[in-house]
Amino acid sequence: MKSIDEINFSGLNVLIRVDFNVPLSNTKEVTDNSRIVAALPTIKKVVKDGGKAIIASHLGRPKGVRNNEYSLQHIVPEVIKCLGQNVQFVSDCIGNDVENAVNQLNNGEVLLLENVRFYNEETDGDKSFAEKLSQNIDFYINDAFGTAHREHASTAVIARFFKGKAVFGYLMASEIQNVKRVLDSNEKPVTAIVGGAKVSSKIGIIENLLDRVNNILIGGGMAYTFAKAQGGEVGKSLVEDDCLELALSILSKAKDKGVIIYLPTDSVNALSFSNESETEETSIGSIPMEMMGLDIGQNSITEFSAVIENSKVILWNGPMGVFEMSNFSTGTVEVGNAIVKATKRGAFSLVGGGDSVAAAKQFDLAKDLSYISTGGGAMLEFLEGKVLPGIKAIEEAY
Ligand code: AMP
Repeated sequence: MKSIDEINFSGLNVLIRVDFNVPLSNTKEVTDNSRIVAALPTIKKVVKDGGKAIIASHLGRPKGVRNNEYSLQHIVPEVIKCLGQNVQFVSDCIGNDVENAVNQLNNGEVLLLENVRFYNEETDGDKSFAEKLSQNIDFYINDAFGTAHREHASTAVIARFFKGKAVFGYLMASEIQNVKRVLDSNEKPVTAIVGGAKVSSKIGIIENLLDRVNNILIGGGMAYTFAKAQGGEVGKSLVEDDCLELALSILSKAKDKGVIIYLPTDSVNALSFSNESETEETSIGSIPMEMMGLDIGQNSITEFSAVIENSKVILWNGPMGVFEMSNFSTGTVEVGNAIVKATKRGAFSLVGGGDSVAAAKQFDLAKDLSYISTGGGAMLEFLEGKVLPGIKAIEEAY
């Protein structure tokens, strides 16, 4: 496979699939431009080489219907601002208007296509729609890590029309490289911190990690299912009763494989799911009947921090408690601080998959961690060991 740096795009019509699915305000202004910023290196490379950068993306879920609310035209000013050059817009992603707009484009110029999800064929992974997208295009770049887990027309199916002429953009390449650095690490110990609400949504990750890491720290709502499975009293805490057996089987599989699973020993409890509620710290297996556990306690923080600080490679997926409420954010903040300390000492740290990314940003930890993934669902599936269609499609183009 070729890397983007091996290609000179001079004079080529280059279709770049990015993930510009950015949040918009009521007045349709971009409220967080991170996804645009993340795609800039790839767009700039094509522009610098003197290629024509033709950008395709989705925005929201218009469900196959043309709907101005989800028009990518809204984001053109922000893309111009981020890129520092003019960006043209065409109000379709296939057909004559696109062909004309591409023909009028000069080398080094940028054209943004309308939302690919205005066609149902996009999410259906329709081959003839993918072929239409490929018309007039010399080279295909996939830089949309956020949708790499979808087998859509513009993210995967299209690559079959670009044999030997398809590469990952810089963002895709770095997401892949950084996850592999964790999952295939030669450096040890590797520690995974898995938190969040439910065991059921993280089971795939934990099972995949059992073959790849040395330690797994479990926190968040899912810890209470483990505590109950081991015979503890967890009061009104979040528990998935249908996962109790599963929790025990994870613990026994881990033992067989020599992976150490650390569960919280104590818990910060409240009478209700509210920041105003009275709190009390108890051992995690003796939570009063009328209380619910909403964060890991001080002993757990101390124990988890020691494991983290001794690790060479760290993966963080999921908060340790209800970090959105200040009274239950300490576990998440302190675990984050321990990861920062380890990183400053030379460990490699990756935060990926949803709410731990939000937490790392909220508590200003992101800048001191090695890598923050941009893909929520895609990163979760990657960590589960699944083959992502967007990655496979480029690999198969060779
Ligand atoms: P996830 O999307 O599965 O990573 O879950 C993240 C959510 O889990 C966050 O919104 C947290 O507020 C929530 N969470 C973390 N700990 C707990 C807990 N002890 N009880 C209920 N919800 C929790």
